[in-house]
This record gives sequence, structure tokens and C-alpha cells, in this order.
Amino acid sequence: MSDFKSISVRTSPAYTVTIGPGLLRSCGTGLRETLSPCHMAVITDSTVAPLYLETVRGSLAAAGFSVSTFVFPAGEGSKNFKTLSAVLEFLAERRLTRTDCVAALGGGVTGDMAGFAAAVYLRGIRCVQLPTTLLSAVDSSVGGKTAIDLAAGKNLAGAFLQPAAVLCDTDCLASLPADVFADGAAEAIKTGVLCDEGLFSLFEGSALAADPPEIIARCVSYKAGVVERDEREQGERKLLNLGHTVGHAIEKCSGYAVPHGHAVAAGLAVIARAAESLGWAEEPVAARIAACLSQNGLPTATEYGAEALAAAASADKKRAGGDITLVVPRRIGCCELKKVPLSRLLPVIRAGWEG
Ligand code: NAD
Ligand code: MG
Repeated sequence: MSDFKSISVRTSPAYTVTIGPGLLRSCGTGLRETLSPCHMAVITDSTVAPLYLETVRGSLAAAGFSVSTFVFPAGEGSKNFKTLSAVLEFLAERRLTRTDCVAALGGGVTGDMAGFAAAVYLRGIRCVQLPTTLLSAVDSSVGGKTAIDLAAGKNLAGAFLQPAAVLCDTDCLASLPADVFADGAAEAIKTGVLCDEGLFSLFEGSALAADPPEIIARCVSYKAGVVERDEREQGERKLLNLGHTVGHAIEKCSGYAVPHGHAVAAGLAVIARAAESLGWAEEPVAARIAACLSQNGLPTATEYGAEALAAAASADKKRAGGDITLVVPRRIGCCELKKVPLSRLLPVIRAGWEG
């Protein structure tokens, strides 16, 4: 068992995140530690299905679960009402009941989609997360946020549903294309800037000499603590949105062609430069953050102008009345929330913008 790291998340309900190699092969017995045999609807996308679906189906069936599978086209473009509706009709057709469970097998898109379907089907059934990207391992599979995108913006319809369990098989990272791996590195670097200079420095220098299970465990431990203290994002949890105000604006301006992690990386670089030039940071942070992002194959600038970004960001969920809460780095490993009037958003973005 020493190959596995296990982290408890004490939310309601509480659950365990298990991280290590080979976990999909044994997911049936792994999930039996939390769940009695039930009907498990495995939701996955068209890229992940040929890689891992048979392994998961076989393991679940061998452990006594009855298994149904639903595959949707891979990509952010599927994270919408059309796919949600198809998943919900599928769950109803297969007659899942309140004692049954949804399994999200894939990246953040699958986790958000399957999690939201579980949150609303029969007013809520259980969901387990089986993350297969670095981004879903370090971030989206933990914390209970689920969502789909609307035409007006990203993640604008969703629900909170803490998973019943998270099994993170680190062997899955081996099949990730480099740019998808980099998306996860962006969220992990973000976590380093937020709270853990040691984690940040794992990404500096020779990129990815670092040890993914260690990175995942550090990110999940930090996120678990934040989510335990602020499950519904009333305060501290807003910190996790570092880089995301501009990041979401970039995604929106690109029609979601720029992937989430790449957009967050550019958003992080913009807010770091702004924090430095506006005197909010205690020490120079921007060059070090930009160098780290570049070393990990991530962008540090965006082609979209400050005006377009500010317009897109003013529709952000983090807006409250006439104010928006920004997450601002003070130094590597320490950030703060700064509420600014919406009218200051454009000057802030301009201060950090580089094309
Ligand atoms: P994704 O789920 O689209 O995965 C990226 C691509 O990698 C997809 O084409 C997928 O099919 C493929 N893939 C997945 N696993 C693979 C594997 N092991 N080998 C080869 N290919 C694989 O995207 P993502 O980057 O994982 O997640 C981004 C999404 O997560 C965004 O929609 C974002 O809004 C959401 N998100 C949610 C939260 C949350 O807390 N709920 C947090 C961060 C991000
Ligand atoms: Mg994110």
C-alpha cells in the first residue's frame, strides 16, 4: 500500500482521495471500500473510452457492480446542456435509482459534466471521480464543484456535489499529450503561487523532473483544507481562482479554443505583472512566474486586448454588484483577495497585459 497516498476531505459527506499507480485496474475493489454493489453508470469521453473504459468496466463488474457506460465526444465543446440532457436521459433509461452511482472517468470536462448530471438526477445521486488528466487530478476531481458552460460564459450553470470517493490512477498521465499535461501543470503552478513555494519550485528548472504523485498529493491536500473551511466559496475558496478572472476571459474570447490550463497560465502571468506594477506585490514575482510557466510549455501572454478581456471578465461569476474580487500574488506562496470596483478592472488588466 506504500505506493498509494491517501488524503481525507472532511466535507459533508467526507471522502478519501487515493493517489497512485494502477488504481483503475483495481477500481472495483477500491470503490467497494465506500460503496455497496450498485448500478454504476460510467460517463467518459471519446478519447478516454478506448484507453481505459474496458479496464474500469471489467474491474467494477468483477467487484459486483452492474455497469452501464455512456461516451460523449471529447472536448470543452461538449460541456453543455445538450450533453447534460443526453446523460440524464441515459441515467433514466437505465433506471438508476437514488442508491446507484455515477462514475466520472476522464478529465475536468467529464468530471464537471458527470458530476453535474449526478447532482441533478433524481435531485442528486452519488458520484465518484476517476480523474485521468493532471488537471483533474490536481484540481477538478476534488472540491465538489460541477458545471456546464452557457453561451454567456464558462461554468455558468452548476451545482456543488462532493464526490463519494476519488481514485486517481497516476499511470493515466503516461498517455497524455504534452499540451494536456501542461494544462494540469498550470493549475499546480497556481497552487504553488498560492500557498507552497516548494511546490512551485518543483516546476522550475528542468520541467517535469518532478514526481507527479507528490505534486498531486500536495495540490489535493491544500485544496482539501480550503474546501473544508469554505465549501461554498463564501471567502477563502475564492483564492483558488488565482489567474482565473483573466483566464476565463481568454477562454471566452477564444470561443473556448484556448484550453483552460493554458488560459489560466496567461491569466496568472497577467495578474502577476499587474500586482508588481501596481505595488500590490511585496517582491518581484512576475518574471519568476513567467519563466516557470514557459519552462512548462505554457503561455505568459495573450493575443486578446485588455479591453476585450475586461469586457469578458466583467461577466465573471466572481462579480458581486459593482465589484469584482481579484486574487493577487504578494509573493510566491502567498496571495490575497482584493475587491476592486468593476471600473478598475480594465486599468488592472492593462497594467499586466502583454501581447
Ligand atoms: P478535458 O477533460 O477536456 O481533457 C483534455 C483532453 O485530454 C480531452 O481531449 C480528453 O479526452 C483527453 N484525455 C483525458 N485523459 C487522458 C489520458 N489519460 N490520456 C490521453 N488523453 C486524455 O480537460 P481538462 O484539462 O482535464 O479539464 C478542463 C476542464 O475542467 C474545464 O472545463 C474546466 O472548467 C474544468 N475545471 C473544473 C474544476 C472544478 O473544480 N470543477 C477545476 C478546474 C477545471
Ligand atoms: Mg481552474
